[in-house]
Amino acid sequence: MAKVRVRFAPSPTGPLHLGGVRTALFDYLFAKNQGGDFVLRIEDTDTARYVEGAEEYIEEALEWCGIIPDESPKKGGKFAPYRQSERRDIYDKYTEKILQTDYAYLAFDTPEELDAIRAEYEARGEVFSYDNKTRNRLKNSISLSEEEVQKLLDEKKPYVVRFKMPLDRTLNLEDIIRGKFSVNTNTLDDKVLVKNDGMPTYHFANIVDDHEMEITHVIRGEEWLPSLGLHTLLYEAMGWEAPQFAHLSLILKPEGKGKLSKRDGDKFGFPVFPLNFKDPETGNISQGYRENGYLPDAFINMVALLGWSPADDKEILSMDEMIKEFDLHKVHKAGARFSKEKAEWFNHQYIQMKSDEELLNILKSSDLHLNIADEKLLRIIHLMKERATFPKDIYENGKFFFEAPSSYDEKASKKAWNEETSGILKDLSTQLEAVDFHVETLKNTIHDFAENKGLGMGKVMMPLRLSLVGELKGPDVPDILEILGKEESIARISHAVNNFQ
Ligand code: GLU
Repeated sequence: MAKVRVRFAPSPTGPLHLGGVRTALFDYLFAKNQGGDFVLRIEDTDTARYVEGAEEYIEEALEWCGIIPDESPKKGGKFAPYRQSERRDIYDKYTEKILQTDYAYLAFDTPEELDAIRAEYEARGEVFSYDNKTRNRLKNSISLSEEEVQKLLDEKKPYVVRFKMPLDRTLNLEDIIRGKFSVNTNTLDDKVLVKNDGMPTYHFANIVDDHEMEITHVIRGEEWLPSLGLHTLLYEAMGWEAPQFAHLSLILKPEGKGKLSKRDGDKFGFPVFPLNFKDPETGNISQGYRENGYLPDAFINMVALLGWSPADDKEILSMDEMIKEFDLHKVHKAGARFSKEKAEWFNHQYIQMKSDEELLNILKSSDLHLNIADEKLLRIIHLMKERATFPKDIYENGKFFFEAPSSYDEKASKKAWNEETSGILKDLSTQLEAVDFHVETLKNTIHDFAENKGLGMGKVMMPLRLSLVGELKGPDVPDILEILGKEESIARISHAVNNFQ
């Protein structure tokens, strides 16, 4: 059997969105599960829709996700070039070939002529389609005589190459995820294969490249399902064996209805792109998962489960586990609802799985500029990670480790402080001055202090916590004391005592 080869073939028309990442991931998981190759091909024949920086964005996003192509424009490979704009001579060769068959013809209708016909149809409440019913009345090498065609060619009149959709044929198609279905060719139109500037359209370049690059499986978004009939016939026309196809369902809005769109991200407050993207025209920045504190392995795990259920409904899987378990037959036919809560849940789980040292590196490479010794930061991470969804939560929920409280929460103050409290804390402070700042010693000191004074623990712990944190939150007080150290702790206590006097 031929080696499995799968390609991801995005067009550089903007940043890769969540759906694109999922397609790339499923392409990759399937290829690697089968011991095959994963190819990145940039489909940039539509120059009008080209967006500056989009190709670099796609490469960077895949790299961040750990979806590493075996062949790509950057990496090269046996079937280079991997950018369609650089493969023109290959398409030219195959344009000639298809024109020698009965599956393609030249069409000389100008855009203005076609617009006029479209308008006529519209006026009658009909929709115009260039197809096997209308082509005989239009300006092409089927309706015109050979001499007329030659004359137009001699006059250098621009033309496009169109696919000649066969009349009334039932195509029996097969999709790995959706099974078998049939389409009648009378419902399909004569798509343009080559534009009047000689550039192939998506349909033609796509099948030529899939053939040339020996692609065995095409896994792509369901928006391409209506093209499957045409693509199947193109393979037939060229005398090539078609690859197998699998079309992935949509990713749906959080409420479960309609396709997740770019705007939903702003509306519901979550990113729909893997990385931030700055629109080169408007300068607007679209939010990325990376910049929002998602870990790449958590992100990828979340994306993989949008439409795929591994065996035993397992939820946490590493890339290697996903590769091992991936099965296109277990990909759902129905759309997959996106959930922000679930995305956050995955990130929280992955933060818990990270070692303190790994989180230290993440925090240190973030833009937080934490001015604190590694050893202390590691202790803070250890204490705070349990409640963190994003790395920055460790800092935000533990801000009191980095700076003294500038005010005291009002409600907490009422609860924790009464007229005896200042005296109690002053006495406690004196005792703390005399001991080593180690959790166990601190615990015992505070405990003995409370006992000797005949005070309930709350009467001591609450104001102490309030002095150190500014509110009644945070990890155990002895832990906080140890990390802050003697000098800083005593200073905070005395600041609170002065404040409440
Ligand atoms: N260039 C197409 C896209 O941007 C590729 C579709 C396909 O995979 O065939 O989605």
